[in-house]
Amino acid sequence: MVIKNLSEVCKEEQVEFVNSFDRLLLDLDGVVRVAYVPIPDAAVCIENFKKLGKPVQFVTNMAFTPAEITHERLINDKFNVELEDIVNPYLAVVDYLKKINFQKKIYAIASQSYKEKLKSEGFKLAEDPPQLIEENLTSLFQNIQDDEEVGAVLYDFDINLTFIKLQKALTYLKRQDCLFVTGGADKFLPVGPTGPLLGNFYNFKGLTETSGRTPIQLAKPSKHYSKFITERFQIKNPAKVLFIGDMINEDMGFANESGFKKLLVLSGSTKIDSVKNWKHPEEYKPNYYIENLTELNKIIRTNHKL
Ligand SMILES: [Mg+2]
Repeated sequence: MVIKNLSEVCKEEQVEFVNSFDRLLLDLDGVVRVAYVPIPDAAVCIENFKKLGKPVQFVTNMAFTPAEITHERLINDKFNVELEDIVNPYLAVVDYLKKINFQKKIYAIASQSYKEKLKSEGFKLAEDPPQLIEENLTSLFQNIQDDEEVGAVLYDFDINLTFIKLQKALTYLKRQDCLFVTGGADKFLPVGPTGPLLGNFYNFKGLTETSGRTPIQLAKPSKHYSKFITERFQIKNPAKVLFIGDMINEDMGFANESGFKKLLVLSGSTKIDSVKNWKHPEEYKPNYYIENLTELNKIIRTNHKL
């Protein structure tokens, strides 16, 4: 199947596409903004969909910024969005741990704000190893001792990630009774015009392969995150939801897993070459791609007289 540029198909086909869904879920980074700079007319585009009676909500894999801060930034950038309309892996993790009534200590590799929020929810956190240790094996082994009270390893994005933190996670994961919960494991962080930053994927892969453990991933493209979002947003008919994202594996894969319609934008991580030379599973293919939300806004503004 050839993926068509939505901007280049006839008006009838564009209208048919827009009529095929009754609500939208959007990824944030690479879709509505790049490096926190909004895509031109993205906020207007979202308003226009709402005028058409289609609610818009946001699904990000970025959890190191609390949803409240993300919300504030979007409001400052003139996006008309409610806090409840933003979900991130942190919220899914809290929801999951509460559902299973998790009581033991959590060893969390995540941002300070993430860990503080977990504590404020009443969860007990294991202490972090020192940021710097003496550079010899004796010191290494002393700092990666097991603690039976730790019942879960939580792995998310941590700017201050160290080798010792990963080693300590591995110690806990050797116990099969220790839960393994993760957030996003994206390959790239599409945060700037100078190119991507290294994402969480490579350390995630190292931890899963070395421990032999399959984590409960509460982030795109996992089915666990899909279940959380479906419940949280009370989605009754996934086939009538459009998911807009900039990453093939994380976003299109997630939409496929969830049974949503898909639209790929080229304003983030994915460039036109990856669309033309498709190297991903066939079922991840969207019917359409579009340059960005600026172009999508032009289409709906013209066709629907907004
Ligand atoms: Mg993205």
